[in-house]
Amino acid sequence: MTKEPIIRVDNVTFSYQVNQEQVIPVLHGVSMEVFSGEYLAIIGHNGSGKSTLSKHLNGILTPHQGDVWVNGINTREKTRIHEIRSQVGMVFQHPDNQLVATIVEDDVAFGLENIGVPPDEMSARVNDALDAVGMSAFRHRPPHHLSGGQKQRVAIAGILAMKPRCLVLDEATSMLDSYGRQEILQVVRQLHREGMTIVTVTHHMSEVAEADRVLVMEGGQIVMEGTPREVFARQDRLRELHLDVPDASRIAQLVHAQNRAFSPDLIHNHEIV
Ligand code: ADP
Repeated sequence: MTKEPIIRVDNVTFSYQVNQEQVIPVLHGVSMEVFSGEYLAIIGHNGSGKSTLSKHLNGILTPHQGDVWVNGINTREKTRIHEIRSQVGMVFQHPDNQLVATIVEDDVAFGLENIGVPPDEMSARVNDALDAVGMSAFRHRPPHHLSGGQKQRVAIAGILAMKPRCLVLDEATSMLDSYGRQEILQVVRQLHREGMTIVTVTHHMSEVAEADRVLVMEGGQIVMEGTPREVFARQDRLRELHLDVPDASRIAQLVHAQNRAFSPDLIHNHEIV
């Protein structure tokens, strides 16, 4: 891992303007960086601002104060939004909302059509992306016939086809069953091994254990940062923040699980979380 930031969030403040009278302040001077090649987990209690922060990482939301830079491009530069989105791809919670086409391969090609990739290159990119998520055999299937985990893998393929440097997963496994979650973790783990930068917003401690670094949010601020071991070790503080606290033996088990190869038997027989 090099210490080159792909994303720099600099003193960002953000509120949702619900209507003329109602403004919900969410982020309060958040600064963070995402470094090339790292696996970063963002955790925090519901409503702490994780999702709002993650939507700033590829310009879906722009700060009211402060700046977000993606590969040196300020996300306020809306004319460069395609460049930003092709660097940083986002996967959301509900796979159904992300799939738009009637067959899987068209879905994966959708973003490429939007940016005018030539047909030959498009076909090669779709093949590579479907291979990377293990979904090549399903390329002619309608997405709505797939399981939750398979749909989410197709959604990831659609992003990989854009050749991003960074993948942001915003609670991308939270609607999936244990098997689906393991399918996604397997893909993400492999992408990370191949050099992809990963940012994951999650409340599953087994996913946190996979990360190189963890940010903990509370009340729209980052209140703790460290390796999974360092963060898990601060049990009193995690309890104050209403977060799950795995005990010491559980942490060892989680970190050990991260080094095991994926095996469907393992998943069927042992619920990891
Ligand atoms: P988290 O991901 O940590 O659960 P969010 O970023 O989703 O937190 O939400 C932070 C706060 O912003 C919450 O109080 C939530 O109700 C509010 N919020 C989130 N999205 C919207 C929205 N689109 N409009 C208004 N308020 C929102």
